[in-house]
Amino acid sequence: MDLLLRSGRLAGHDEHALFDIGMRDGRIVAIEPAERGIAGSAREVLDLDGRLLCPPLVETHIHLDKSCILDRCRAEEGTLAEAIAEVSAAKRGFDEADVYQRASRTLSRAVTQGTGLMRTHVEVDPGIGLTGFHAVRALAREWDWAIDLEICVFPQEGLLNNPGTEDLLVQALRDGARVLGACPYTDSDPAGQIERIFAIAREHDVDIDMHLDFGDTPEDMWIEHVAEATERHGWGGRVAVGHVTRLSTLPPERLARIGRALAQAGVAVTVLPSTDLYLMGRGRTHDVVRAVTPAHRLLAQGVNCSISTNNVLNPFTPFGDCSLTRMANLYANVCQVGRRDELRACFEMVSSRSARLLRRDGYGIAVGQSADLVLLDCRSTADAVAEIAPAMWGMRRGRRTFTRPSAQLHPPAD
Ligand SMILES: [Zn+2]
Repeated sequence: MDLLLRSGRLAGHDEHALFDIGMRDGRIVAIEPAERGIAGSAREVLDLDGRLLCPPLVETHIHLDKSCILDRCRAEEGTLAEAIAEVSAAKRGFDEADVYQRASRTLSRAVTQGTGLMRTHVEVDPGIGLTGFHAVRALAREWDWAIDLEICVFPQEGLLNNPGTEDLLVQALRDGARVLGACPYTDSDPAGQIERIFAIAREHDVDIDMHLDFGDTPEDMWIEHVAEATERHGWGGRVAVGHVTRLSTLPPERLARIGRALAQAGVAVTVLPSTDLYLMGRGRTHDVVRAVTPAHRLLAQGVNCSISTNNVLNPFTPFGDCSLTRMANLYANVCQVGRRDELRACFEMVSSRSARLLRRDGYGIAVGQSADLVLLDCRSTADAVAEIAPAMWGMRRGRRTFTRPSAQLHPPAD
């Protein structure tokens, strides 16, 4: 064996038990209870001391192309309208080298937080053209040693109201974008955009991931429309919707009814707590609404959900360290979920459930799988969320991708 990991807890297995894991040629070749151990010698042996080993964390929704632009944007009102206008103006100054450099910075941060699979949403329109797409596509190739990065192209500034956008989206799909996004809430014809997006997705056989609605009142919800369109087009299991903050305004019975429709249609939901908290409720001076969709209530109806970062250091969200355990913790805190089983579910929404949303088979720790692993400094998936456990090291195909040494105390000597 190349590497033997001793006495670790495994996400997705019995977390009370300790296991040994053996690796060879980039694959997991043995998993045994620690008390039994694995026979044979290994070139390197590491004692995990009961810490939690998990597959790489999964970001389903992040914007690498417009990250880290606070140096050139105004972010004073903190409204959605300001964010869209400021980023739209800043985009005119983007070139490939600039996008590449900023996106690299964000990606390296994500990798060192334990993220190993990511869907990034890239803006495509006549203003920016394919500049952001080309930069992020180059980044995906360059960073393949550390992370599996897939691109979803989308029309942030509308589709039907923005001639030329569709041709660019189609070009990007031909040139390597794997997923088609949408943004009906900025379109002059939201229903028309949704229909067009389904038609393009079917033509190019790609999945759909929409920025669906963004508001803190129950008007202008398109979610039932999307569930119906998903069934009509036979696209179940291939559609995700992000934000859908208006769902947070619904009483439990109506939310449950919509949840059942989404589960039935095969539409997944992504909650983006940091951006949603920052941008929503801006019309109020006090008693400010949270507008974070309660994913755990949708899980109870059979909907697959993920929690993700969305924006990093831009007018949509002037925060971000790309830690998905932090994002899961933020969600749990805001949505008041604290039971152990609920915290475990929050961890699944940044790992196994996210991988399912991205339709990745072979995610998880099992014999025969690629040795893609992250060690978290905690003893269970619930603790990972409760304590925002830091990632200590990660590997992809058996090769180390980062290490982060634990903090050390230096008490005075007696
Ligand atoms: Zn987004």
